[in-house]
Amino acid sequence: LLPVVAIVGRPNVGKSTLVNRILRRREAVVEDVPGVTRDRVSYEAEWAGRRFTIVDTGGWSIDATGIHLRVAEQAEVAVDLADVVMFVVDAKVGATDDDEAVVRMLRRSGKPVVLVANKVDDDRFEADAMALWNLGLGEPYAVSALHGRGSGDVLDRVVELL
Ligand code: GDP
Ligand code: MG
Repeated sequence: LLPVVAIVGRPNVGKSTLVNRILRRREAVVEDVPGVTRDRVSYEAEWAGRRFTIVDTGGWSIDATGIHLRVAEQAEVAVDLADVVMFVVDAKVGATDDDEAVVRMLRRSGKPVVLVANKVDDDRFEADAMALWNLGLGEPYAVSALHGRGSGDVLDRVVELL
């Protein structure tokens, strides 16, 4: 059985785009409309000779109801099943209340977390990524899931923790 890496975060932060970047294919469905990934979706991935299962999830938010509550619950299940969690934040937006709520959920889980500061498409947004040190999850890895910037460094860190 392969180790499991779960991808969690608010809707629209770029989780599915990151999954596609890791897979180097377009399998995870990316949408401008938040909440497209409703259930956990698993893929087999490999980095630096390590194979693992990557689990894409729908977005997590604290006041979710109806379908959104189910999506949030699925994200928590994914975290429970994970060996390592990649927590994706939109660095351009910065940390929101929902991001803080995800942090609390992740702390309760006790799982190792790698903080992905996504949408850092160029140097101008590096400072926004560094502001996410405030979340108290350690080093924010500045990444552009869309363009690939920084994705190797964050994956090196993930496989270190597997
Ligand atoms: P998810 O809801 O967290 O899975 O987010 P998606 O992967 O579906 O992406 C939501 C939107 O953000 C899409 O329009 C993506 O193209 C865009 N996006 C994702 N990653 C990046 C990035 O690194 N930079 C920029 N500029 N946009 C991104
Ligand atoms: Mg998605």
